[in-house]
Amino acid sequence: MGRSFRVGSVKGVPIRIHWSFPLLVVLVILPTGAKTTTRSLAEGLIWIAALFICIVIHELSHSFVARRRGFAVRDIVLLPIGGVSEISGLPGAPADELAIAIAGPLASAALALPLALVGYATGAVMWPPTLFAGAIVSRLMWANLLLAGFNLLPAIPMDGGRVLRALLARRRDDLRATVLAVKIGRFIGLTMVLVGARYDLWLSVIGLFVFVGAGGERRAAAVRTAVGGLKVSDVMVHDPTTLEVSFPLSVVAPFLQASPGRVLPVVDRGRYVGLIAADRLTGPPRAVLVVDSTDRDAPPLAADDPLYPVAVECLVAHRRRAAAVLVDGRVVGVLYAPHLEAALRRATASLGISSIPR
Ligand SMILES: [Zn+2]
Repeated sequence: MGRSFRVGSVKGVPIRIHWSFPLLVVLVILPTGAKTTTRSLAEGLIWIAALFICIVIHELSHSFVARRRGFAVRDIVLLPIGGVSEISGLPGAPADELAIAIAGPLASAALALPLALVGYATGAVMWPPTLFAGAIVSRLMWANLLLAGFNLLPAIPMDGGRVLRALLARRRDDLRATVLAVKIGRFIGLTMVLVGARYDLWLSVIGLFVFVGAGGERRAAAVRTAVGGLKVSDVMVHDPTTLEVSFPLSVVAPFLQASPGRVLPVVDRGRYVGLIAADRLTGPPRAVLVVDSTDRDAPPLAADDPLYPVAVECLVAHRRRAAAVLVDGRVVGVLYAPHLEAALRRATASLGISSIPR
C-alpha cells in the first residue's frame, strides 16, 4: 500500500499513517477561509485529532473482533479516505466476515450517542448536520454517523459490501457470492464517481477506490476458488535440516554459502526460533553462534494453512524467501516462495490473470 509510518499501537495492534494522510489535514484546514488565524488553525488540528481517534476506534473494532475469531491483525493504516485494517486470512467463513465487517460501523454509530448527549447537555447546536462549522461535539457526532452510514453502503470492499457478500455466501459458494457483490459494488462505485464529478470530487475519489477495489475482490475470490484445498503441506519441502541455536556459525557458514537459495530453520531444543540463510551471515559483526545471525522475525506457517491467502500473505506480500512450517511448535517443513508461486501459477493458469492479488 506504499509508505506509511507507525504512530503507536493499541493492545498490540500497530497504528500506521499513510504518507498521503496529511492531505486530509490540508483539505480540512483550508476550507476554514482565506484568513487563517492561530485560533482557526488550533481548532482545525483538534478537529483532525478527534476525527483521527474516531476512525481508529472504528478500525480497532474490526481488528478486535477479527482477533477474537482467530485472525491475525497486521496493522491499521490511516488513509485520507479512511482507515484500513490489515487482517490476514480474510474473508474466512461468512459468519466471521459478517461479524468483522459490521463491528466498525456499529462502533461508529455507538460513538455518536455519547456525543449527542454531550452536545445536548452543553447546549450545542446539533441541527442541521454539518462537518465544517459549529461546535466540535456536533461535527464529531455527524462525522461518526456519516462514517457508520457511508461504510454500510453495500459496495465491496467497503464494510457494507463485505456484509452483503457474507450474507450472499450463506446460500452460494464464495465465488458466486463475490461476483454478485462485486457487480453491485461496481455499480455503486461508478455512481459515486459520476455524482462526485458533479458535486464533490472527494466522492469521486472514494468511488474510484470502490470500483478498483471491487475488481481486486473478484480476482481474489477467483484465486481462492482455483487454489481451493491446496495447503502449505502440499508444496513445502518436508523434514528439512534444522540448526540448533548454539551451533557455531563458522561450521554452518560454508554450507550456507555453497547454496545461497537455501534457508534453514533454527531451533532451540527442537522449538522453532527463526530462519538463517547465506545473506544473514554478514549480519552482526561479532556473530559467533547460529542464534546471532538468526532472523527471529520470520513468521512461521502451519502445515494445514491454506496456500491462499495465508501463505501468500506470509511470503509474497512481505517479500520473504521462505517460511518454516510448524506442527505444535516443531519444524516439519520449509515453504519456499518460488514453489508457492509455481503452485499458484499452475492452479490459476486457466483464469487468465497476470498477478496473484493478495
Ligand atoms: Zn470499517
